[in-house]
Amino acid sequence: MCYTECVKYYNEGEEKRPEIARLWARSTGSYLVMKRTDKQAALAELATLYPDAKPALHYSTPYELLVAVILSAQCTDERVNIVTAKLFERYSTPQAMVTLTQKQLEKYIFSCGFYRMKAEHILSASRDILEKFDGEVPNTVEMLMTLAGVGKKTANVVYSVAFGGAAIAVDTHVFRVSNRLGLAKGTTPLAVEEALCKAIPKKDWSKAHHWLVYHGRRVCHSQRPACESCTLKHLCDFAKHKPKK
Ligand code: SF4
Repeated sequence: MCYTECVKYYNEGEEKRPEIARLWARSTGSYLVMKRTDKQAALAELATLYPDAKPALHYSTPYELLVAVILSAQCTDERVNIVTAKLFERYSTPQAMVTLTQKQLEKYIFSCGFYRMKAEHILSASRDILEKFDGEVPNTVEMLMTLAGVGKKTANVVYSVAFGGAAIAVDTHVFRVSNRLGLAKGTTPLAVEEALCKAIPKKDWSKAHHWLVYHGRRVCHSQRPACESCTLKHLCDFAKHKPKK
């Protein structure tokens, strides 16, 4: 059974849904998208659970946030905050950063992992900011993505967090929780982002990113999600189809 077929049948009638859900789950190991009312209920619950959700990375300017987000790939926010606390004491602007050599920067960021590539990206992005954007971090997703090491996720984070733009950055937590819940289905971050943008009112896009990150970190862990204590379990396709022990 393909996904399109599944959605078509799913939309045909309430009584067919449990059967279709089982067939879809069995054939793909995945689960159905939520009904619209369930999506609204899930978003309302997430908003209640995490009213103060905010970025965990420390920064005081768009440039610092950009550097921190580049460093956060495959690294914990806690580790990045330790590294940037030292780095930003002297190198918190693109002007200052480009005075470092690749090797010098690598020494600062070594513990974040992938340090050669990250140092290269930070220096290259800093030079671009100076040469192409008059020393200011660009404030659109498209322009941000022209910088070295800046993909859609990083651009969305900087755009939404530093500039207050409406965007949903899909990191590993957002990707996992959205798919499990059935809030947005997709096999790539871009597909999940597009589905989330359709499911969530634009005014909540940025907040929803933080809600899903918090839920992924605190409850819906990658290994062993805490479904028994999760207040979204009555809405969640993963929980509904999880094999009973
Ligand atoms: S019920 Fe389980 S899988 Fe679903 S959102 Fe909660 S923790 Fe994640």
